[in-house]
Amino acid sequence: AASSSASTVRQVKLDRESELRIEVGYDSSLRLRLLNGTAEIFGTELPPEIWLTFPPRLKFAVFTWYGATIELDGSTETDYTADETPMISYVNVHAILDGRRNRAKASSSDGSSTVQGPRVIVVGPTDSGKSTLSRMLLSWAAKQGWKPTFVDLDIGQGSITLPGCIAATPIEMPIDPVEGIPLEMPLVYFYGHTTPSNNVELYKILVRELSQLLERQFAGNIESRAAGMVINTMGWIEGIGYELLLHAIDTFNINVVLVLGQEKLCSMLRDVLKNKPDVDVVKLQRSGGVVSRNVKYRQKARSLRIREYFYGRINDLSPHSNIASFSDLLVYRIGGGPQAPRSALPIGAEPAADPTRLVPVNINQDLLHLVLAVSFAKEPEEILSSNVAGFIYITDIDIQRKKITYLAPAAGDLPSKYLIVGTLTWIET
Ligand code: ADP
Repeated sequence: AASSSASTVRQVKLDRESELRIEVGYDSSLRLRLLNGTAEIFGTELPPEIWLTFPPRLKFAVFTWYGATIELDGSTETDYTADETPMISYVNVHAILDGRRNRAKASSSDGSSTVQGPRVIVVGPTDSGKSTLSRMLLSWAAKQGWKPTFVDLDIGQGSITLPGCIAATPIEMPIDPVEGIPLEMPLVYFYGHTTPSNNVELYKILVRELSQLLERQFAGNIESRAAGMVINTMGWIEGIGYELLLHAIDTFNINVVLVLGQEKLCSMLRDVLKNKPDVDVVKLQRSGGVVSRNVKYRQKARSLRIREYFYGRINDLSPHSNIASFSDLLVYRIGGGPQAPRSALPIGAEPAADPTRLVPVNINQDLLHLVLAVSFAKEPEEILSSNVAGFIYITDIDIQRKKITYLAPAAGDLPSKYLIVGTLTWIET
């Protein structure tokens, strides 16, 4: 192998405060290692000399503060070095957040007051680098021993779990540049759609549920309260999208708003938040390295994310195909459907679709290829406010025998018989 790869191995020397921007090829992975100096990928330091393998299509940058030599093995879609980056301004934000964490911790241990750690929300249009900045801030904090909470409100992509969900997880170590965020026991609420307009009310309810749960955790854990949280948001910043940003800022008691690359959004937020002196609105430059992803790419990324849930990033998981009887499972949809038939309403009144109504769903062919969430609810009434244990994927419906075949991460019974269905589909490839 050493001789056959020799032709593609090459070295790149990076000057201080510059980065190597890479898009891995479409069909082949790329190996990379740090030969000398120090370098990081989105806030996580590279180990010296160890080869790392990056999967096809990944887009990332290797940044160095003091200079480094990188060795690459394999072909890329593109790779180039850039010496103009917003990294200094990003790390300055980190330093300020770090100061606040220390103050929060000191104030809680001397019992004098309960200063909050930083509650940061990252906002901006799609492809402004929100997920990437969130990741850097979390990894830099974790490197310093904090365990900040990462909250992902972006139902379009999903950095913590599947698209269609909002989720939170503590970040205990700098995020692995290849593996991403470990999928161990995140807190997940299933919204079931990849755009908030499907059911805005439901989205808000789930955001509120998640925030209340985190609030309870923070109340009992000084460390995590001091470490605070970093919230990633959707790229939808107009109309209802903007309204939902304000809702999140309010619900999570945000004290730092980071606005990426949008003057207008920044001044709008400064304006509405001017009566809240403890909320800082900070404008940050978008990195020139952020890659725009078209609709098709996003769809592909969503599909890969679902695949990854069941099969692992490098096919290291083996999901199980299980069979259940229709009577073993209770499937619900949240919202939609008129509450009352038109005939039961006063003349001229329109039947309102109740966005929070729990609608029992008949098991039939319509469920084929849908991804369903397994609720932690013990009673149907709890479904709306419960987080979910995981997901299943429906692969076959046998109406005659009343059997349902589904893929699940593990064999055996599901943690609950209550399933939630939305519009999240997947075609296994
Ligand atoms: P957003 O969350 O605002 O939609 P992302 O942070 O996901 O944007 O960035 C979009 C894409 O650009 C991602 O694939 C990310 O890995 C990539 N990216 C971000 N910053 C850089 C950079 N400096 N160099 C190369 N790729 C980058």
